[in-house]
Amino acid sequence: MAALHGRREEASSRGGPGGGRVIDYLRVSITDRCNFRCVYCMPAEGVRFKDHSRILTYEEIVRFTWAAADLGITRVRVTGGEPLARKQSQDLVAMLAAVPGVKDLALTTNGYLLEEYAAALRAAGLSRINISIDSLDPDRFSRITRGARLEKVLAGLERALEVGFSPVKVNVVMLDGIEDDLDEFVAVCMEMPVHVRFIEFMPVGRRRGGIWKFVPRQRVLDALGRYGELSPAHSPQGGGPARYFRFQGARGTIGFISSMSDHFCSECNRLRLTADGKLRNCLFSDNEIDVVPYINGDMEELQQVILRSINGKRFDRLGEESGGRTMAQIGG
Ligand code: SAM
Ligand code: SF4
Ligand code: SF4
Repeated sequence: MAALHGRREEASSRGGPGGGRVIDYLRVSITDRCNFRCVYCMPAEGVRFKDHSRILTYEEIVRFTWAAADLGITRVRVTGGEPLARKQSQDLVAMLAAVPGVKDLALTTNGYLLEEYAAALRAAGLSRINISIDSLDPDRFSRITRGARLEKVLAGLERALEVGFSPVKVNVVMLDGIEDDLDEFVAVCMEMPVHVRFIEFMPVGRRRGGIWKFVPRQRVLDALGRYGELSPAHSPQGGGPARYFRFQGARGTIGFISSMSDHFCSECNRLRLTADGKLRNCLFSDNEIDVVPYINGDMEELQQVILRSINGKRFDRLGEESGGRTMAQIGG
């Protein structure tokens, strides 16, 4: 490995399209499968899942992460599809937590299996958790997810707090009708140490048209005005591109991730590894590198491939259309 020392600097301070930006964040999708069928993410009939044999093993994911961490990746997020739907995902968390250089290990989940796994994930070394809950009304939640039970997700959220995760963030994609949910979301951030983040829908994958209508950040910000004054707040750990606000006396915060109204490509610090071993340097670019041929081979070659992806990273992809893969396939 000695020959590779110095690469970290090379990777994080290079010029080129990245203009010297630090690329320190890796999102790893560990499965393209999901136990939900959210209307904006997956077709009702599901998508053609990759055969298990084409999905990276946990050992391969760890080997890739090891190589990337040696090049300067310090933050890793496990996602999917639904990461907790893959067997023994807590074992992968433990393996990733032990990778030298990984200082922040987070996971995004739909929360359905979290009541069962929260304690094991915490014990395995997971630092932080994000739970996606697009509505706090059981019927609307069931319509959005095509049949999932909100109650079970809320039990997962409570369990995550009980076992000591902090911060706990709740991701809410802003869908038409979100205003009807604001009473409940405001109550959550007033009463619980939870950071509710409203996310603008992004036109990723084939399902760009359809049954939702784009809701801009400003519409929800305006609607929140009726609950009181929102003051700017510090980002909780791992704040990323979100902008945070707080109501007076609230235990939690409200955040906005406005990928469409407020392009933050210029600050983009991330790479994505798909479940089938494709390295993507932008959500909106199908220009993937297949790392499977390198992952079990020479570490230095694998790192050259990672550097190629980093050096090819552009920072202006919004506005372009993404290709065929859905967010669940890419790893949101
Ligand atoms: N299944 C897990 C979940 O739902 O949290 C992890 C994967 S999911 C693809 C990750 C996040 O991406 C979720 O918060 C989801 O709501 C969000 N998401 C999916 N499609 C999106 C889109 N087109 N625009 C914005 N966010 C999206
Ligand atoms: Fe599954 Fe998450 Fe996509 Fe919903 S948003 S279908 S939970 S991957
Ligand atoms: Fe980064 Fe691409 Fe998303 Fe812009 S569109 S923030 S460059 S992943």
